[in-house]
Amino acid sequence: TKAGGSRDRDHLGAGRCRPSKIGASRRPPPARVRVAVRLRPFVDATVGASDTPCVRGMDSCSLEIANWRNHQETLKYQFDAFYGERSTQQDIYAGSVQPILRHLLEGQNASVLAYGPTGAGKTHTMLGSPEQPGVIPRALMDLLQLTREEGAEGRPWALSVTMSYLEIYQEKVLDLLDSTSGDLVIREDCRGNILIPGLTQKPITSFADFERHFLPASRNRTVGATRLNQRSSRSHAVLLVKVDQRERLAPFRQREGKLYLIDLAGSEDNRRTGNKGLRLKESGAINASLFVLGKVVDALNQGLPRVPYRDSKLTRLLQDSLGGSAHSILIANIAPERHFYLDTVSALNFAARTKEVINRPFTNESLQPHVLGPVKLSQKELLGPPEAKRARGPEEEEIGSLEPMAASASASQKLSPLQKLSSMDPAMLERLLSLDRLLASQGSQGAPLLSTPKRERMVLMKTVEEKDLEIERLKMKQKELEAKVLAQKAEDSKEKENHCPTILRPLLHRTVTVAKPLKKAVVMPLQLIQEQAASPNAEIHILKNKGRKRKLESLDAPEPEEKAEDCWELQISPELLAHGRQKILDLLNEGSARDLRSLQRIGPKKAQLIVGWRELHGRFSQVEDLERVEGITGKQMESFLKANILGLAAGQRCGPS
Ligand code: ADP
Ligand code: MG
Repeated sequence: TKAGGSRDRDHLGAGRCRPSKIGASRRPPPARVRVAVRLRPFVDATVGASDTPCVRGMDSCSLEIANWRNHQETLKYQFDAFYGERSTQQDIYAGSVQPILRHLLEGQNASVLAYGPTGAGKTHTMLGSPEQPGVIPRALMDLLQLTREEGAEGRPWALSVTMSYLEIYQEKVLDLLDSTSGDLVIREDCRGNILIPGLTQKPITSFADFERHFLPASRNRTVGATRLNQRSSRSHAVLLVKVDQRERLAPFRQREGKLYLIDLAGSEDNRRTGNKGLRLKESGAINASLFVLGKVVDALNQGLPRVPYRDSKLTRLLQDSLGGSAHSILIANIAPERHFYLDTVSALNFAARTKEVINRPFTNESLQPHVLGPVKLSQKELLGPPEAKRARGPEEEEIGSLEPMAASASASQKLSPLQKLSSMDPAMLERLLSLDRLLASQGSQGAPLLSTPKRERMVLMKTVEEKDLEIERLKMKQKELEAKVLAQKAEDSKEKENHCPTILRPLLHRTVTVAKPLKKAVVMPLQLIQEQAASPNAEIHILKNKGRKRKLESLDAPEPEEKAEDCWELQISPELLAHGRQKILDLLNEGSARDLRSLQRIGPKKAQLIVGWRELHGRFSQVEDLERVEGITGKQMESFLKANILGLAAGQRCGPS
């Protein structure tokens, strides 16, 4: 009831600031997110018999998957753990989840996230069935048992457990234990703990308690979703279990450990599912939370300085439970069926830290050892029909020419599934091409795409088509961004009217003049003057521009600021120049829209454009790539560099170098 609810809410959101967690400062550096992959078995026996898997395990940490781009290769992925199709719920739980639970009693946070395309086994892994209970029931059982023991009378700490259950759908946070609640906000208290004021929290002391709250909410979610099956596959179901500890004797410390158990939205690319094509679905297609989650995991695991938690609801919620002293495991679920192939590859790429290309064809030898024995394929078999066709020349190639392979059922069973992929329909080809580009943009190398002449023709046609779509997409994106910018401008100008009647220029631009008429004026940002006085070897010079000679020689009156910029030219030491460029480049690649606005001449609109460009095209390889971002021309580039390198150089010189 609500009476309970209000008490519940109090200890969630009242901004109570606990003493910092015990021993936090002595902890080792941030833990990375562990990644496990689980391959489920064929679920439909009839399909299983006729379908050949395109992925298989190699050992307890790695697996290989056919490389559709090159029949001669497989891709090997390495993870913290790999669970094959025969693994049990207990294997996954004991291997990857149970070990992190004890940290909750140390006041640390933990999270378990099931990732993967719809139908690959996320819900099976997290929830399971009464016969095969998954991670959630197992973790709850153990945790409740653990807290009962540790919190028993006579032990130093009193323990209590509460649960909340929420859903993130289209970047809205919804309370699944209170269907009347609207979108909830995520806050951070002064200790960096993330909390959701207003979220229902139910105390639980037994597993029956847990089921009483969880099952109806869970059922509601699925029942509500059957009408709109997309919803359950596009929303993240987040179960939060909190363990509160209070010391029974002085100094009466308190600790809190949070465990997030998350059944993520399906990772399949919704833009390309269905038959309406790219355009219609574009805006609603990318699940922001899933997209940012990938970036966050990447940043944590690579130790990048900026982790973009704030860029989505899910990652913001998990901010204190991913990285830091938290313990997190991402379980990527994949399916063996060939029609999952693309989603499997993209799920593996999402989850993988390392991947290598192995030069051998993917065969089914290890999967059917008794039926076929180790299959050794001849070179001709390995190359398959496309290779044979190449010998015949392009003119003879027609779609029907792939038939010989399909005709021989037993041969095709021995052959790589990739050869079957080669007779794919155009929609499939389109997806492969997009995937190929994506992989290329992520820096993976491989054999050139589809190298036979007929395919090349198709590729070209597809490329043109795709380019058109890309243009459409960019246009839409630009419109969206422009709308945002307009809104932002309106807001900004309102604020300005209210607060600052005169526009303040950065200090840098107001320090152009010096007292004496010199041929060569050494000018520096205001904040540098004292430093410079001690070291006369100024590295930043601003020289006169010849065209403005006369004016500048009489420096009695200071130049208006805008003009001053035109009439000075920079001479910066090459070292500083390189440093400045690198700094700008880093900012372009890592900075948020807000960070980007710290650059001179980058307003909100350009910042958004840069972020948008980056999302579409990947990293900037040099500062000049900015010219490819709409709204930044070659001319502006020059002054952009001047202004920013000077600014950054100033920052550097002021720093503790
Ligand atoms: P998702 O939640 O990723 O969409 P599900 O968990 O609903 O996928 O799994 C799809 C189907 O596959 C379900 O019928 C489920 O019971 C079955 N399944 C998934 N994983 C396994 C597994 N490891 N063993 C047996 N059946 C599984
Ligand atoms: Mg599911």
